Amino acid sequence: MNFKNVVTVFLLGALVFSCKQQNKSANMEAERGLVFAKGEKITSDNFIGTAFLNALVEADSTNPNAVGSVTFEPGARTNWHSHPAGQIILALDGVGYYQEKGNPKIIVKKGDVVRCPPDIPHWHGASTGTAFVQIAITGREKGETVWLGTVTDEAYDQ
Ligand code: MN
Repeated sequence: MNFKNVVTVFLLGALVFSCKQQNKSANMEAERGLVFAKGEKITSDNFIGTAFLNALVEADSTNPNAVGSVTFEPGARTNWHSHPAGQIILALDGVGYYQEKGNPKIIVKKGDVVRCPPDIPHWHGASTGTAFVQIAITGREKGETVWLGTVTDEAYDQ
């Protein structure tokens, strides 16, 4: 094999490698479950850590539910809170935690559905090591979410 052939083989190899890298990156986007955009960074004091909200549907007179996609980075979570008309959480991606007051926290994985009963204090968020993406469907017909205080590291780690 002469020098020219070696260069040609190298360049073809580099081309194939770069195409594979691009495919990998596109697949990772799809695997992240990016049906919905991540949205805006949440700046509310009712959250700990880094989380993003894409407010998909506002409640109105014909539809009493607010629908939002929330992405929690590892360790991020809501404060304790309750919803006067309850909430449904659809786990789109990753691994998260959900805990109702007085019960142990449960692990929530992609594909899981959680029903939060009305007025039950709870929190939700990402697990320690993995981000979590959820769709929250929140009934608004009986009033706004009631915020109840921080989920301490001790409670989160239990
Ligand atoms: Mn909730």
